[in-house]
Amino acid sequence: MSVYLDYNATCPIDPRVVEAMAPWFSRRYGNPSSRDHVFGWDAAEAVETARASVADWLRMCRDEIVFVSSATEALNTAIRSYVGFTNCSSRKILTCATEHDAVLATVRYLSCHTGVGVEILEVDSGGNLDLGRLSCSLENSPGSLVAVMAANNEIGTVHSVRDIADITHAAGSLFLCDTTQAFGRMPLVLRSDGIDYASVSAHKIGGPPGVGALLIRRGLGAQFHPLIAGGGQEASRRGGTQNVAGVVGFAHAASLLSDEGSGTIQKLRSLRDRLEEALLSEIERAWVNGASSNRLCNTANIGFAGIDARILIRDMHDIACSTRAACSSGDSGPSHVLKAIGLSDEDAYSCIRFSLGRFTTEEEIDYTIDKVVKSVHKLRRNKSIRM
Ligand code: PLP
Repeated sequence: MSVYLDYNATCPIDPRVVEAMAPWFSRRYGNPSSRDHVFGWDAAEAVETARASVADWLRMCRDEIVFVSSATEALNTAIRSYVGFTNCSSRKILTCATEHDAVLATVRYLSCHTGVGVEILEVDSGGNLDLGRLSCSLENSPGSLVAVMAANNEIGTVHSVRDIADITHAAGSLFLCDTTQAFGRMPLVLRSDGIDYASVSAHKIGGPPGVGALLIRRGLGAQFHPLIAGGGQEASRRGGTQNVAGVVGFAHAASLLSDEGSGTIQKLRSLRDRLEEALLSEIERAWVNGASSNRLCNTANIGFAGIDARILIRDMHDIACSTRAACSSGDSGPSHVLKAIGLSDEDAYSCIRFSLGRFTTEEEIDYTIDKVVKSVHKLRRNKSIRM
């Protein structure tokens, strides 16, 4: 058996999504910007139908959705657009130590190269932000950009999005929320949650990689600078011919999620709890990282004291899980998220992220529990013999 528990890195593409995309790799190949023939009209209609489905799923308006290549691009666009519009000497970007590198690397770069002020807020041991601190930091910097994710990709901690939005808006600032891991895994509605800009990635919801969306709340359009200029695609908000097959697949994945409703969230939470409870009860000196209650339903980040997680993963070989975010798995240092919640280097290297998804079964979870328990016990035994 081979078990895939790395859904926070990427999800298997639903076969129904592949089927919906297939014609766009063969007989339907027009450029959506070709206004002079039926192939172009066909493609343009497919892009707009996809936009309507994604908007429906997110309970937004079509003109609030800009198709891009990834959540990384969406986040870069929002942040760089803000800096492009800002008098950098008076405003700043506030973000959080556990954000994805799509945000952290971008703000660090901009701080060096544009002089925009950047403040990176610390979190507590559960990965929670101190909202009082956020409020104080915003006090003297109206017109700032607050970039805080809805849910963390490594430890699953869910931030109080509505509270962050209220604090941000009360200070006359804008709220960019990295919602890449959140959609389909927790209830979230951009408008009622007070989010100004957000990111979505198709491959995190069962769609194809290479496509995503930047969500821009209506009314903010005037304050927007495209990251990629060129053609007038996406209402001049993102140059470049749209990935028609990609947006069709994205929209199909979104509509499948809408059909499933909240049943998947409940199923995932119960499988995740089954995994955590069994591992904590059968393995001594194991702990769960992240907030105890406010955590993504599909994410279990578990530490096994004294174990090198990379060796453990290799030893289990048919369980696909990870030590950290896929995009930073080549880094040699410990995870910045685990360091931010206060773990020592040694403990940070002992943690594994299991992330579940809609195809995960109870049988797979039980198989995983058995494998992890046996491997941890074996590695600890071997270590004590060597010592
Ligand atoms: N933000 C978060 C929280 C993520 O988990 C990821 C990907 O893992 C990204 C952004 C980047 O997403 P993409 O792969 O679409 O660039």
